[in-house]
Amino acid sequence: MGKRQRDCVGCGAPVGFIDRQHCCRCTARMKDEATRASCPACGRSRVLQADTGRCITCSRTCASCGRPVRSPSASHCGICRRESARQAAKRLCPRCQRPGFLQTSTGWCGHCSRRRQTKQPPRECAGCGQVRRHAGHGLCSACWQKHPDRPFIAAENLASRLAEPVPWLGDFAGHLADRHCVSRACTMISTLGRLLNDEQPNHPQALLDRARRPGRSMGSLARALEAFLTQHGLALPTDQAQRLATGRRRRRIDAVPLPLRPPVQAFAESMLRARERARKAGTLPRTDSTIETALAIVRDLARFLTSTRNKQDWALTDVHDVEAFLATIPKARQRRLTVLRQYFRFARSRKIVLIDPTLGVKAKGPSGFSGTTVAVDQQRQLFRRWTTGTDAHPHEALLGLLALLHAASSSEVRLLRLDDLDPTNRTIRLGKRPHPVPMDPVSWSVLQRCLAHRADWGTDNPYVIVTRITKTGRAPASTAYVSHLLDPCGTPPRTLRSTRLADLVNTLDPKLVAAALGMDPEGVMIYLADHVDVGRLAQRRENAPGSGTA
Ligand SMILES: [Zn+2]
Ligand SMILES: [Zn+2]
Ligand SMILES: [Zn+2]
Ligand SMILES: [Zn+2]
Ligand SMILES: [Zn+2]
Repeated sequence: MGKRQRDCVGCGAPVGFIDRQHCCRCTARMKDEATRASCPACGRSRVLQADTGRCITCSRTCASCGRPVRSPSASHCGICRRESARQAAKRLCPRCQRPGFLQTSTGWCGHCSRRRQTKQPPRECAGCGQVRRHAGHGLCSACWQKHPDRPFIAAENLASRLAEPVPWLGDFAGHLADRHCVSRACTMISTLGRLLNDEQPNHPQALLDRARRPGRSMGSLARALEAFLTQHGLALPTDQAQRLATGRRRRRIDAVPLPLRPPVQAFAESMLRARERARKAGTLPRTDSTIETALAIVRDLARFLTSTRNKQDWALTDVHDVEAFLATIPKARQRRLTVLRQYFRFARSRKIVLIDPTLGVKAKGPSGFSGTTVAVDQQRQLFRRWTTGTDAHPHEALLGLLALLHAASSSEVRLLRLDDLDPTNRTIRLGKRPHPVPMDPVSWSVLQRCLAHRADWGTDNPYVIVTRITKTGRAPASTAYVSHLLDPCGTPPRTLRSTRLADLVNTLDPKLVAAALGMDPEGVMIYLADHVDVGRLAQRRENAPGSGTA
């Protein structure tokens, strides 16, 4: 340094240069500080590296985890180095085939070497006496699963868990235990527990609504709750039947081709309104099935119009379309025409059509009974199948025999209740017949077979025909079940009944038959009308001249 020129403004040390305000040290420090900045990773004031934008320490990172690495020579951080050393020290365990630190005492990994708590040793079960592992209450799992007390214990446990137990829980457990197997009853009680434990109100009606499952079936718990709560006067029945009917109507309307659909929708609504009026006025309201049949017939006509007649508007329908449609199923002519007249009357009143196309159509086809009957040898064959045969289901035999021998309709058999039977006189009450029907020994023994089959279900359903579905409730078997009962023998119940009716009417006084069967005399008369197949007549004339009914 040369001659002292002045004092440094920073530290007071001598400054040797003429045009400098700071000493050498302060100048060097200021130059150094100018190159530094705050490191974004560690926050300290350091010289930042051009490639990473961080200080030199923060720029060196571990190759596997990304943590900073201090030493310039190391590629991995200390944690990763120690961890890889640990992994390298592991050996494959001979027991579990996974890497681990083998213990010298066992030669296995630590997990395998640990002593486990052993299960309780098998003991003799109090139920079945076999030596088995125990599930609870001194019983083996199988015996505990079917222990009859389980539903009650489940209900007690549930009641103790609840803040406000419902008073009917115990009775409901008894109701379930009577009608369902133990495991099903327990499942239902635990599902009920979930419903009772949520934050919603536990009033019986609200509970019943929450228990319902979406879809066509509301679920077994909802059915059981409905039966129990309505029986005890705690809740009103659900509207499940109405919901199902709404769905059936919806499906029929949706099946109508789109351009023809809106009037059908309006027709359905008008039928429902008429039903409401009839209910209020106390006259005979249309049933769901009447409305559904009507919608189905109109749907069929709509499909027929668009597909076969190529018409996309109701207004274009004429007599020929209606005649062609009726001709597709001659047997249903009268039924379909009645509905079509209703529909077109409605359509005309709404100005959907200007002229009713059904006006000139004659309702009457050939009158008289034109269905098929069963020949005598085939009747014998069926009789043997249902009496001495073994492969017929008791329900099939009962329906078949009652139809063939007593002209019972399938609904009469379906709705036959236990209290309709009179074992002392061996008679049964069938449908609306004014007098009890005396049973022949064969029918009576088939009836006993049905009762034995019913006893196997252990049900309190009041009907004779009880199915897997109806055994837990009090409803009769479904019409679908009964209408398919005779499928195995290939003869529908209506044919058997017609056979018997035609036989009775043609050998006895029709009025007597009508009185005995509780039928309308005119309904019986159609069986009197002679109807002979034309083809059959010619054949008969060749073989044996004379008359013949088919
Ligand atoms: Zn200085
Ligand atoms: Zn840094
Ligand atoms: Zn690392
Ligand atoms: Zn192991
Ligand atoms: Zn056991």
